Amino acid sequence: MSTIRFKALEDTMHRKPVEVSLPSGTVAAYFGENVFGKDAMRQFLSEEAYSSVMAAIEKGEPLDRKMADQIASGMKAWAASKGASHYTHWFQPLTGATAEKHDAFFEPVEGGRAIERFGGSQLVQQEPDASSFPNGGIRNTFEARGYTAWDPSSPAFIIGDTLCIPTIFVSYTGEALDFKTPLLKALHALDKAAVEVCQYFDRNVTKVVATLGWEQEYFLVDEALFNARPDLAITGRTLFGAAPAKGQQLEDHYFGSIPERVTSFMLDLEIEAHKLGIPIKTRHNEVAPNQFECAPVYEEINLAVDHNQLLMDIMDKISRRHKFRVLLHEKPFAGVNGSGKHNNWSLATNTGKNLLSPGKTPKTNLQFLTFFINTIKAFHDNADLLRATIASAGNDHRLGANEAPPAIMSVFLGTQLSKVLDELEEKLKGGKMTPDEKTALKLNIGKIPDILLDNTDRNRTSPFAFTGNKFEFRAVGSSANCAGAMTVLNTIMADQLIKFHKEVEALIAKGKEKDEAIFQILRNYIVDSKRIRFEGNGYGEEWVKEAKKRGLNNFKTTPEALNAWVRKEFVELFERHNVMNDREQHARYEIYLEMYVKKIQIEARVMGDLAVNSIIPTALQYQNTLISNVRGLKEVLSAAEFKKAAAIQLEMIKEVSDHVAAIKTNVDAMIEERKKANNIEDWKKKAEAYCNKVKPYFEVVRDNADKLEMLVADEAWPLPKYRELLFTK
Ligand code: ADP
Ligand code: MG
Repeated sequence: MSTIRFKALEDTMHRKPVEVSLPSGTVAAYFGENVFGKDAMRQFLSEEAYSSVMAAIEKGEPLDRKMADQIASGMKAWAASKGASHYTHWFQPLTGATAEKHDAFFEPVEGGRAIERFGGSQLVQQEPDASSFPNGGIRNTFEARGYTAWDPSSPAFIIGDTLCIPTIFVSYTGEALDFKTPLLKALHALDKAAVEVCQYFDRNVTKVVATLGWEQEYFLVDEALFNARPDLAITGRTLFGAAPAKGQQLEDHYFGSIPERVTSFMLDLEIEAHKLGIPIKTRHNEVAPNQFECAPVYEEINLAVDHNQLLMDIMDKISRRHKFRVLLHEKPFAGVNGSGKHNNWSLATNTGKNLLSPGKTPKTNLQFLTFFINTIKAFHDNADLLRATIASAGNDHRLGANEAPPAIMSVFLGTQLSKVLDELEEKLKGGKMTPDEKTALKLNIGKIPDILLDNTDRNRTSPFAFTGNKFEFRAVGSSANCAGAMTVLNTIMADQLIKFHKEVEALIAKGKEKDEAIFQILRNYIVDSKRIRFEGNGYGEEWVKEAKKRGLNNFKTTPEALNAWVRKEFVELFERHNVMNDREQHARYEIYLEMYVKKIQIEARVMGDLAVNSIIPTALQYQNTLISNVRGLKEVLSAAEFKKAAAIQLEMIKEVSDHVAAIKTNVDAMIEERKKANNIEDWKKKAEAYCNKVKPYFEVVRDNADKLEMLVADEAWPLPKYRELLFTK
């Protein structure tokens, strides 16, 4: 009989919090100490080198080779002063994780000696072996090489003994193989488009950046228990497990105090994050047991994306130090809330204004309304693309599975702003405004800030909600790279703002006064995008029906949702703004399908193995115990007594048999379907086969296994149970 579970539990029972030593001084004293930021640059770079990096960061000016050499040597001196012996280009391939290839600073030279070398060429470009990163065929058709190129707008940093240099990752032919390249291009497009629109309101605006504040949800599981669950260890989620007697019904975890072991992990994480310049600010328990969240102060998107990727890396490292494992999967436990990564998004100008923050005067509020309504319109016109960008095997368990948020894309504005839009729609009906109306309107919109102050109605079921001075995209998965969603959001916003500007200009050319033209176009947008606005309960069955009536799509699975990637209008959208070309987009589509297939394939394998090699043998062993007990009863009891006494046990023996048979038959059938799916060449069809033919077996197999879990003796069960995984602290 297996004893893994008891060994694992014993290991976890006496764990003490790991002692974390606080660095001396305040956070300000060590914040960013492992980052080659402005201060470090000033200290380690010549005046000339410093200004050329700054020009590269702020204006995107190219660096010449001589400067690159100087910067490299300064960077290396700084890294060496911090004890770094290696360097790596750090990039974000489409697998979702980050990638590194470490090289030592030294190079061997003749005579068995070594010299330290790290020059401009090593800083600026590297050629990692790209063949093992997903590339959707782009690279294969050309040359088996990919390049990483330094992105000076994101500062270098040190982890352990390694200097990490943030880079983009492109193919030999210059096509993007990563998340960052299209993001940077989208941000550029947005900047231009938004500045042009800002000119209507404020001539001083010359730069607009998009901001992102992510909220990272995660679970912590004790390491010993994690290791005793091959499904968790290999797929990141539990493929089996009966619901515990107590789940999250009581909602006591959300308000509960954070357990000591967890606090010490969080503290350690925060210190490490702060040293890396990641401005982590809040931490708290989440709804589900052993679920937590942390969030930083928002930053420019490019940096915020890097910081989130970096945080996910160090979370994993630090959790091990504390004998925990961090689960970033969107749905590690069935029947328990999943994890998301809310993306709070807004736009900021060089004049220090948040464009999604209502202003104090009618004029600034017209600017607010312009950006606000354009966002809603952009979201409306591109809802399917937004759905596609958050699609993944893991996120399918949240979206469209009666959990936050639904797969139907809608926007929540809150009662006050909904009312403002309804009023605008009504008042501007005739197209032409009387001077009176204009004044009334202006006065009315002048009141927005006051109203918003007491706007407390917050809808947690909406995928995209306005929260006072930003939109919150809640449908992003907890393990996702935010760059995916942010590339789409910023591209569609750029596109929308350009359209808006054109339409307003056309009206002005016809002799309309500027404000009136703006109002007129905004009103059209309010009408056009009305069906995407939803203030009700996003989880309810009524919404599914209502959304259908409104003609909104409800793509519940990744293969369905991904189709939008290659829809003509969206391919053209990305091409129009030079964010991605047709090939890059198709390559991405293929990669996402491939990733989906691989995830389901691996889950199916692990499920089959665990069911057949662990669960069935355990059940049979238990059944044998029952059988020998029945035999024993027969020996010691009279025939009449036996008949009565054995009835229940015979029933149990049969139940075990039935579940074992059901598991085995369904695992076999699943393997057959997998074989068929594996023979399909076309990625779309293959993904559909995995989704519609293979995956449905998961539920039956699991259901029977979970029933066995409740039947078989507790001490015999080979896997840590939900109550142990979720409530061990
Ligand atoms: P909640 O859980 O109530 O949504 P949090 O405080 O956990 O709120 O997270 C809010 C996030 O929104 C933080 O990361 C915060 O920095 C971010 N945020 C606030 N203002 C902006 C803004 N203008 N642009 C982008 N993100 C913002
Ligand atoms: Mg939030």
